[in-house]
Amino acid sequence: MILVTGGCGFIGSAFILDWLHQGREPVVNLDLLTYAGHLGNLREVDSQPAYRFVRGDIGDADLVARLLGQHRPRAIVHFAAESHVDRSIAGPEAFIQTNVVGTTRLLQAACEFWKALPESEAEAFRFINVSTDEVFGSLQPGEPAFSERHQYQPNSPYSASKAAADHFARAWHHTFKLPVITTNCSNNYGPRQFPEKLIPLMIHNALAGKPLPVYGDGRQVRDWLHVSDHCSALRAVLEHGKPGETYNIGGRSERTNLEVVHTVCKVLDEARPGCRHADLIQHVPDRRGHDRRYGIDDTKIAGELGWKPSTGFEQGIRDTVHWYLTNPEWVESVTSGAYRRWVEQQYPTI
Ligand code: NAD
Repeated sequence: MILVTGGCGFIGSAFILDWLHQGREPVVNLDLLTYAGHLGNLREVDSQPAYRFVRGDIGDADLVARLLGQHRPRAIVHFAAESHVDRSIAGPEAFIQTNVVGTTRLLQAACEFWKALPESEAEAFRFINVSTDEVFGSLQPGEPAFSERHQYQPNSPYSASKAAADHFARAWHHTFKLPVITTNCSNNYGPRQFPEKLIPLMIHNALAGKPLPVYGDGRQVRDWLHVSDHCSALRAVLEHGKPGETYNIGGRSERTNLEVVHTVCKVLDEARPGCRHADLIQHVPDRRGHDRRYGIDDTKIAGELGWKPSTGFEQGIRDTVHWYLTNPEWVESVTSGAYRRWVEQQYPTI
């Protein structure tokens, strides 16, 4: 049994589907179902005996202690978070509560549970703290990509909250010896990503004939990784990673935002002949404090765990666009109600 937190979100749901499709051990999914969590993401597995959903907050120490005692997981894979930078600028409080306070309570509950395990089970136990490359701050063009030794310099409330969580995770290993491993991954894309993030937002707007908002000059660089590759990296870290270590995970695919949007438009043009989606691109004022470049040096995970990404960026975008084209009801269900109200507030000019 493993305990997954935030399993109804984009990456957590991909991880659970992947895990169960491979016939691995049962999963308990603890998720608060915020605007970003959708039960429908796990419809394929929700009637399987190997899957159990529990709605709740990672910051609810009593609930977490109860779940750990009842299910006795051999690992916790911790995805639950507030994850969108723009939202962290509009309202940082939820990021502090979930990403910092929530993660710390989860670490503490995990530690109490782990200390009471028999020696062999304690030895095998792992706490995987899923984090981001954004904690490292911004790179200049031409500067070497982030290695695990790069200094933390978070610039947004989101990355600051994730950096704080990573520091607590490190402290729980160093001080209490909890077998924690932190992963710092680059931008993910793929099916079921909430359409506030760059790639699904562009697909969603383009299909609706709406402007494609690009921040500033669009030359901010990100490294992109297909979510299925993130899942395989996390499995490698869970099985072979060393407690107390951190691993950077990336897609070897640095692209400017504008290049990403043009790739999406090209694939959409092919799928919908006669449309010129790039005509919808509209530059909007840059995000406050927008980091210029992130890049991942994956030497450590490649060398020590033998992991490398397997999905090329162009093919991954093609598959992702295809998924959104063939699953309009998913987009419809997540873009109604609360999400719509937030979007109208966030992008009043669109
Ligand atoms: P997401 O926003 O799609 O999903 C987050 C999930 O966490 C949702 O299901 C939500 O309901 C749940 N959640 C939020 N607060 C909770 C709480 N207090 N208790 C329990 N559940 C709660 O996020 P994602 O994109 O799937 O990211 C998952 C993790 O991976 C996050 O920790 C994020 O920082 C990290 N990460 C994301 C990316 C990316 O590109 N999306 C890249 C690197 C790392």
